[in-house]
This record gives sequence, C-alpha cells and structure tokens, in this order.
Amino acid sequence: MAGPLPPSLLPDTATIGARGRLSVGGVEVGELAERFGTPLFVYDEEHLRRRCRDARATFDDGVAYASKAFLCLAMARLAHEEGLCVDVASGGELHVALTAGVPAGRCVLHGNNKSLAELATALEAGIGRIVVDSFDEIDRIERLVAGGLPAPSVLVRITPGVEAHTHEFVMTGQDDSKFGFGVSSGDASRAIDRITTSPYLDLVGVHCHIGSQVFSTENFAHAAAVVAPLAAAVGVEELCLGGGLGVPYVEGEHAPGIPDWGGGAIAACRSAGFVGRITAEPGRSIVAQAAITVYTVGTIKLLDGIRTYVSVDGGMSDNPRPVLYGSGYETFVPTRADAPRPRQVRVVGKHCESGDILVREAWVPADLAVGDLLATPVTGAYGHSMASNYNRLPRPPVVFVRDGEARIVVRGETLDDLLRFDV
Ligand SMILES: *Cc1c(COP(=O)(O)O)cnc(C)c1O
Repeated sequence: MAGPLPPSLLPDTATIGARGRLSVGGVEVGELAERFGTPLFVYDEEHLRRRCRDARATFDDGVAYASKAFLCLAMARLAHEEGLCVDVASGGELHVALTAGVPAGRCVLHGNNKSLAELATALEAGIGRIVVDSFDEIDRIERLVAGGLPAPSVLVRITPGVEAHTHEFVMTGQDDSKFGFGVSSGDASRAIDRITTSPYLDLVGVHCHIGSQVFSTENFAHAAAVVAPLAAAVGVEELCLGGGLGVPYVEGEHAPGIPDWGGGAIAACRSAGFVGRITAEPGRSIVAQAAITVYTVGTIKLLDGIRTYVSVDGGMSDNPRPVLYGSGYETFVPTRADAPRPRQVRVVGKHCESGDILVREAWVPADLAVGDLLATPVTGAYGHSMASNYNRLPRPPVVFVRDGEARIVVRGETLDDLLRFDV
C-alpha cells in the first residue's frame, strides 16, 4: 500500500488541481496526451532553466551541461541561453550543439575514443576545450595540428582511483576504467608531461568524473582531494569536477541539490590548495526531474496467485534504464495524481522481451483501468537520449511546457521515418 505520488518527484512547476488533475508548466497533462498522443515526454522548461541557473551560480564560467543526458536543438539552445557551455561526447552531439547555434568555443569535447574525423571537425570549428582521454588521442591531435589545424586548449582527464557508490556501469573514477589516465599507475603524470612539452596542445586544466547517479558528497570530496593537489602542482587555470550528482527517482531517496553538491566539492578543492577556476558538467541533475513520460494503459493481465501485469504503449525503447541498470521508478495516473496507490502491479512495455519492464514493483490506484493514462516521473535524463526503435516503434515526441503553453521540440517519429535509412 502506497500513498499518493510524493509531489517532490514531480517537476518544479507541477500543480495538482481539481479532481487530482496534474498540470506542468500551467498545462494539464491529460490535455497534452489528448493533443500529442502517448507515449509523450513532457519537460518543464522552467525547471530546466532553474537548474541551469543553479549550476551557473554555483560554479565558475565554463560549467557545462552534459548533453548526453538529453539533447535536442531546443535543449542545447536553452543551456546556452542560461550561460552554460555544452559538453559533447561525439561528433553527433557536437553537430547538434553547433546546429543549435552554440558557438564552438562554448563546446567541450569528450570521449574515450575520439576519431580523427571527430577531432578534425572540432578543431576546424574552433572547439573551446578538448578533454584528452588517451595517449592515442594525443597522437591524433598532434598530427592534425602539425597538419595546420589550430592548437586546442585541453584538459587532461584523470581517474582518481575513487569508487563512487553507484551502479558498476556508470562508475568511472576507479583505477580499472576505460576512461582517462590513472593517477596511481603514473599515466596521469606521463600524460601531463607529454601535453605540457608538446607545441601542439595547450594544457589549461585537469578533469575528473567519478560516475553518475552518485548521492554521496563524500565521494566527490574524496575525488577533489586527489585531483586538486595535482591541478595545483601543474599550475593549470581550470579544474573540472565532471558531473554525476544523483537525483531521487523513488519515494524515500534523497540527494543534495546542485548548490550543496558544488559547494562541498569546491570547498574540498580550495582546502587542497587549488586557487583557479572550478567547473563541472552536470547532466542528470539538470534534466532528470524536469520530465515525466506519459503512457496509456492498453492491457491489464491478472495472473492468479502470481501478479498483475499492466502493459503500456511504450517501454524499453523510450526508457531503457530499468533494463540496463535495474533502475526503479514510481508511477501514477496524471489525471488522478493525488490518488492513493494501494494496488501492486508490474508495469511493462509492449516489446517482445520479458525484460521489458518499466516499473518492477509499481503501486497504482485501485481502479486503474484500460485506457487510463499512466506516467513515470523523473524520466528527463537518459530516456529520450537512449531511446531506440526496437520492434520498430517510432520514438515518441518531446514537448516543452511553460507559462500555459506547450511546444513540440522533437516531433514524434512516423511509420515512414522508420524506413528513412533503408535502401
Ligand atoms: C556522463 C558524464 C557527465 C554527466 O553525468 P551526469 O551523471 O549526467 O551528471 C559529465 N561528464 C562526463 C565526462 C560524463 O561522461
């Protein structure tokens, strides 16, 4: 037996009106579903902007939005308008950011295996920063710059040897990692020596990113205590602490806000003797709670003595996180958002996999019926950006709501879109 959905999991501007009808950005979610269909990603634009402002107020200039969490032209523009740089991890993400009008100088290029072509495009465009991740990458940049492209400002990515408390797949600061240069192996100092003695790269900073969905401020402080003395010793102007701040997905979870997370990490860097600019790359903490995904219930199957399966019209193709990481979610009926949820069911998608689970142990209203809307909150990060066309499902549209207005920022795919690349 669970009570109504905790409103703390909803986007900032969410309100629950007469008869429990949920509005976000001043627009009723039931109306959005009627107008745009389901599944539908609904983003609270004000929520996105407030989190960007939190990041900009906490860190120095250069703080970047980690676009892999959720990227489309509108999101890149929004982050840029709010004074954030845009962190891209592929030529594709860079293309979207540049097309959105983000100046190349405000983009930061990441990746553990940047191709020669990706590096060339970034250098030609005048990329603001490249976060160097391997000796092979140093070779490639040197080759391109020797060939006439402009020498980039680079940060060197360090793995501090910190095991963040999170899922193994999103842990990135430990010694056994495909990312960055290890401190304990000596690779970090070798990379720094190579870059500082190279005429083709300008070392401006040190970078670390310990993982994602991390709640413990101690983990961040610990990483800062390893990298800050190193950055101070090298004498670089910038120390980037990466992203990784966790968000609550289900009732009972708590996470620090961006100001507390940043404040603690910045204090740790200062007390370790780093006096330069401190930046970060939040992704999830900017976008996750800004969105809900709205589905329609299509089938309810009661298995006597086993469980009840509630099937909705999306699934692992619009939210692969439960399958990838075993992530938990809450669910609720957005037209009765204040209803108690006494009935336990399993919410599944429509894909041909038993693993296609959205909410393994879901609590729903007693009278949940076929045709009802069912929503999952906190789906703004790593949902749309990881979406697929599995089973040839068209990817759902994305709508931004603000001040009573809704605008489509990514249109829903059509059946013909599914054929666009077939020859
Ligand atoms: C994924 C990633 C981020 C963002 O992580 P979040 O957990 O979404 O905040 C930042 N920096 C780097 C290098 C990353 O790989």
